[in-house]
Amino acid sequence: MMQPPPLLDVRNLRTEFSSHRGAVRVLDDVSFSVRAGRIVGLVGESGSGKSMTALSLMGLVPSPPGKVTAESIQLSGNEMTRLSPDEMRSKRGRELSMVFQEPMTALNPVKTMVQQVGEPLAIHSNLGRREIREKVLRMFEMVGIPEPAARLDVYPHQLSGGLRQRAMIAMGLICEPKLLIADEPTTALDVTTQAQILRLMVGLRDRVGTAIVMITHDLGIIAEMCDEVNVMYAGQIVEQANVFDLFDRPSHPYTRGLLASIPKATEKRADGRLNSIKGIVPNLAKLPGGCRFNPRCGDAMAICRQQPPPLADVGGGHLARCWLHTKEGATA
Ligand code: SF4
Repeated sequence: MMQPPPLLDVRNLRTEFSSHRGAVRVLDDVSFSVRAGRIVGLVGESGSGKSMTALSLMGLVPSPPGKVTAESIQLSGNEMTRLSPDEMRSKRGRELSMVFQEPMTALNPVKTMVQQVGEPLAIHSNLGRREIREKVLRMFEMVGIPEPAARLDVYPHQLSGGLRQRAMIAMGLICEPKLLIADEPTTALDVTTQAQILRLMVGLRDRVGTAIVMITHDLGIIAEMCDEVNVMYAGQIVEQANVFDLFDRPSHPYTRGLLASIPKATEKRADGRLNSIKGIVPNLAKLPGGCRFNPRCGDAMAICRQQPPPLADVGGGHLARCWLHTKEGATA
């Protein structure tokens, strides 16, 4: 049976920043797709390019000094790379929207909740103030804000972190976008609230059908929520697979390192420390030659220091950017 075309299809996304020392490419050859109603994860350490991918797709990278290019970015079959800033602004909120990591900094402290959660509707619809208020109230109910009517006219500082994050999700969904990009939406929250927010997002996907790009450093969240996963390292996707395949057969040494770093209640190291990947994410202005992961990789071969590896198919569309899965790597 033919698959319907993806809702979002990103091909060869590149983002650069110019500096007095030349251009620094912070995203390179980022390609992935999201089908309608699916939850797709972007996972990696800080500085791997996850949030930059989100900002680039949302058209929120300041230019200059930033420059975003791509072979193609299609949303519902429409090419986004040809849109003017005004056209992009009209898509934001209406067709794709974003929930940010820290609601206290993303929300305006001097506007009431109804003013800011209803703002996308004020911009993108012809609804009057009363109808917007009604709709915000319904969204607050939907995202599980208790006593929603009493929360409409309060300011962000009068809400707890969990309620602010629910309000942010309400704002992200108020125009019923086809795609929601959630950037570490639960990082600042306690574990119970985190679990509630994640359940809420999966529930909204099931009820409203909104596709979600979930950005996180937490493989537990990926396992719980996502259908497909993209592992990012130093501005590139290094592994791409459906979630079961990724956890069953992690094929990139970096993914294997991330999985080995998850603390397990049943396994303790003799020295009492947690497993971690040795070394740190490289400075993007001074990338190592060959594979970007080679200084940290226990499997590195001579070719890894000489040439960047291709994205190799390790079976069934599961991709890994690693020489180990190529003819050249097998004979090295
Ligand atoms: Fe390690 Fe080489 Fe694979 Fe890079 S290409 S992850 S250095 S084995």
